[in-house]
This record gives sequence, structure tokens and C-alpha cells, in this order.
Amino acid sequence: MQTSLPSSSPAIPHPAMKEHCNHQADCLKMIQLILDGEATEQQLAKLKINLESCQPCIRMYHLEKEVKELLTKRMEKRCCPDELVATIKSRILSFS
Ligand SMILES: [Zn+2]
Repeated sequence: MQTSLPSSSPAIPHPAMKEHCNHQADCLKMIQLILDGEATEQQLAKLKINLESCQPCIRMYHLEKEVKELLTKRMEKRCCPDELVATIKSRILSFS
């Protein structure tokens, strides 16, 4: 059997996309505010602009959102989240 590379290349980020975020701590803070529904409209607008050009922050936003949704679901089920937290932590680590 011949091993060939997939003909279609993986999603190439937009040329203007930043591969690395040099303000990730700020971005994360803002993302969490927004997901908590505590961000002002100004902050929302700022993050929206940032997410259009910042690859790591887009990933972080989706990850945070997913984590929040999972935790909410688990809490509704009154399930012990230890295993879930471990899963999430390993996923977050795989992003960095
Ligand atoms: Zn960023």
C-alpha cells in the first residue's frame, strides 16, 4: 500500500491571520467576560475585530465556549465533573 499525503492541504489560515497572539491573556479575559455575558458592547466589538485576525484567539474562544457549555450541561445533570475537568485540561494543554 502506498502512503501518500492527502491531496488537499489542511485549512491554511488567511494571510492576514496571526498565528501567535501577543496579547493572549487580555484576549482570554475578554473571552471569559463575553461568555459570562458581562462584556460591554465596546468589549464585544473589540473582541470581534480581534477574532477576525487572531488565529489562537479564535481557537481559544471556541474552546472556552465549548468548556462552558459542557460544564453547564454537567451541572444540570448533577454529575461529578472531575473526569470532565481532566479532559478539558488535557485539551487546553494540547492547544498550547
Ligand atoms: Zn488575540
